[in-house]
This record gives sequence, C-alpha cells and structure tokens, in this order.
Amino acid sequence: MLRIYNTATRKLEEFKPYGEIVKVYTCGPTVYSFQHIGNYAAYIYWDLLIRTLKIDGFKVKRVLNFTDVGHLVSDGDEGEDKFEKSATKEGRSVYEIAKFYGDDFLQNFRALNLVEPNIIAHATDYIEADKRAVDKMTEGGFTYKTNDGIYYDTSKFPEYAKFARLDLAGLQAGARVNYNNEKKNASDFAVWKFIQPGEKHAMRWDYLGRPGYPGWHLECSTIIEEEFGEPIDIHTGGVDHIPVHHTNEIAQTYAMTGRELAKYWLHCDFITIDGEKISKSLGNVYTLNDLAERGFSPMDFKMWVLSGHYQGTRNFTFESLKASKQRRLNWRNRIALLYQNIEMQNNSEKKCDFVEILSAVNNNLNSAEAFAIIDTVNLDFDDWRKVDELFGLNLINDSPDINDQIHDLIAERQTAREKKDFIRSDEIRAELKTFGITMEDTSTGSVWQYL
Ligand code: AMP
Ligand code: ZN
Repeated sequence: MLRIYNTATRKLEEFKPYGEIVKVYTCGPTVYSFQHIGNYAAYIYWDLLIRTLKIDGFKVKRVLNFTDVGHLVSDGDEGEDKFEKSATKEGRSVYEIAKFYGDDFLQNFRALNLVEPNIIAHATDYIEADKRAVDKMTEGGFTYKTNDGIYYDTSKFPEYAKFARLDLAGLQAGARVNYNNEKKNASDFAVWKFIQPGEKHAMRWDYLGRPGYPGWHLECSTIIEEEFGEPIDIHTGGVDHIPVHHTNEIAQTYAMTGRELAKYWLHCDFITIDGEKISKSLGNVYTLNDLAERGFSPMDFKMWVLSGHYQGTRNFTFESLKASKQRRLNWRNRIALLYQNIEMQNNSEKKCDFVEILSAVNNNLNSAEAFAIIDTVNLDFDDWRKVDELFGLNLINDSPDINDQIHDLIAERQTAREKKDFIRSDEIRAELKTFGITMEDTSTGSVWQYL
C-alpha cells in the first residue's frame, strides 16, 4: 500500500486513485538550455513514483510537458523571454533552441533509464487550446485585459491562497511600486501576453486581433484538460512551483472547468552543490556530461539521487557521488558472484524478500531506507531483477553480460592456473583489467569482479 505526502493537505496519505488508471502529470523542462543535475534529480524521483505505482499493480497514464514557449526569465510576467534570450545568445532561432535542448533532455532521460511518459506534450502544440481556455476564463469573469495582456484576477478565486498558504495581504503590501500598475492584485498573473509593436518575439500567435503568446502557467492547465479531461490523481513538480506556478495552475483549471486540478500533489526539494544553490554565477551548473567527464555515469548519479529522499534539501558533493558509484559497483559485484554461483561470503546477511524493499519505497518513496536494506540482506537473482525493475539502475543489464572474449579469457586463465602456468595467468589477469574486470583467486577457485 502506497503512502505519499500530499502538499495539498500537508499530510502523509494513503494513495487512492480516482479510477482504474492512475493519471499523473509532471511539470517538465523548459527547453532553452541544458538541464542541470538538480533538474534531473527531480525526474529521477518521479521515475521512482511511476515504477512504484506500476509494481504496486496500478495502470498509469503519464504526461510530461516541454515548456517551449512563454517562460519569462522570472516566474512572473516580467523580464525577457528565456527562448528569445537563448536564441540571441546562440545565434539560432527559438524553434531550433527548443528542438536542440529538448532532444538533449530526451537523450539524458533515456540514459538515466527513466520510464518514457505516455505523452510528451509540447506547449506550442496546445496554443489553440490555450486560446479556448482563456475564452472560458473570460466568460466566467476571471480575467481582465491590460495593455500588455489578459490577466487572471486572483480575487475572483476565493481559494487562491489555500494551496500554498499564501499571505496575500503581505504580498500586496510587498508589491513593487510602479510595476505594472494595471494589475489589480499583486498575485494576478498573465494568462496571455500581447506583443507590443516593435517588440522582438518570434513565437507569436494571433488572438483577440493582436499577436501574442500564452502565459507560462497556462500550458499545464491546458494540457491536463486536453489529455485527461478530468481531475488527475497525481501532479508532481519542484518545491519552487508551489507558491506561483502550481497555485496558478489550480486557479486556471478552476476558472476553466469549475473542478479541482489534482488529488495528490508531490513536490521534491532542491539539490544544492557543496552547500550552494545551483547557479551560473557560482559556476556549478553541472550537467550529466560534466559528471561523465569526471568518470561518473548517469547510473552513478541516479544511485546518488535515490540514496536520499525527495523531500528535504540534498547536498551534492563529488565525494558522495563517488560513494554512490562504489555502492552500485558493490551491488553489481554481488550479482556477478551470484552469476558465478558463488555463495555469499558474508554469512551475517539475512535473507530478505523483495516485499521488505518495496514496502520501504511504498512509504513515501523512501528509497534511502530501501537501499539500506539492500546493503545488508542476501538477495537472490530474482530479487535483484525486481530491485532493477523498481529503481531502473541497470544493475543486471550492466553486469553479467560479459562478452565472449572476456568469457574466453576467464576460462583460459583458469586452465593456465590449473597447469600452473602462472606467467600466462598473470598476463590474462592484466588483460582482463583493461576490460574493468579483476580476478580474485580464492581457496574454492577464481572469481571475477568488476573494478
Ligand atoms: P525548469 O526546466 O527550470 O522548469 O525545471 C525543471 C524541473 O527541475 C522543475 O521541476 C524544477 O522544480 C526542478 N529543479 C530546478 N532546479 C532544481 C534543483 N536545484 N534541485 C532539484 N530540482 C530542481
Ligand atoms: Zn506546470
């Protein structure tokens, strides 16, 4: 039985979906630059959610969006458009930018062995639906027009402050003077932006007789309405989304449909690096490629992410990544021993069945506790298979499928040893090392392990 922490109620709750198919939506990447390891951590946590649901026997329909339009440099309605800025800097079109970084994201998504969503929804494919959504909100009296766009009047939605427990009076008092004085309330936000004459903005669509583009928050409400057409079971994102983006999604969906958006809301906390926020100015915006250059695979990073919990800030260091790499290697070597039918040396290991590991994860995705169990118990090959299915760590795929050449070398070394040809035996040992394999000679024979 799965229990998850629901941001909407601030409680750990037993998961009970609306219907037979669990409907999950994940706020996805803004594809205007490379995603950093903090971003990928978020997708790794939600991958564990999806895998857990499936192993628990649920059918899942999952949608992930790509924000390829409308995200301004701030989460609000000010500043440059992220795509325009990136396109200018790189001398490419905004569409090329979105394609390039979207493809890069997908490549990394696959390298991390994350379960493919049923639908990857590009915001730019939902523009007509966005316009219909704004029409609906306007018909319901939830919007007003200003010189630079159509705004959502948050005072029209009595529950606006509820989800994020916002202090609206404080927000109003803290609002900057002179900024967009056409806004009625500080928390109001653009659902559609007009492009001013002379303004450089390549992505543009006609609506209400003027060129414009959707407000950033709109796409998620629209995509959910188009792809699910009813309240969804689980909505995931980062904690940064709670006060603005998700609050606005809830408000929009209410104005469009009169319904709630999602039953359960899951938010992951942020990753810091060496105790610092991930930011360009600190030069710590590491990508998976940066990790690869230092000898760490996507799976090593995934192992690091899953050795902690999605709630609570996590501090990334290369030391801790090294420890995770080592831990994964240990697990693979345990599988390699099983593969060679060698009994576990450590007799203190108690037998566990996979249920214990799964129940740790079913407790609010506590993979850290599940990993601690895996470290100390004896698993058989079938258990390892299930561990791989649950965490997608490619433990078995990356392990005993050594190629024939290596197989032959191991056999040849065995023969050499039996013939007491230690020179040849040492030669082969050295050769195996170049393939990342070490031979250990024990009283009961030789075994190979990964280096
Ligand atoms: P973005 O592409 O900026 O929209 O971010 C994609 C996802 O990564 C969002 O769910 C963010 O909440 C999440 N995210 C951004 N920075 C971090 C971080 N440092 N740690 C964890 N998640 C993050
Ligand atoms: Zn969203």
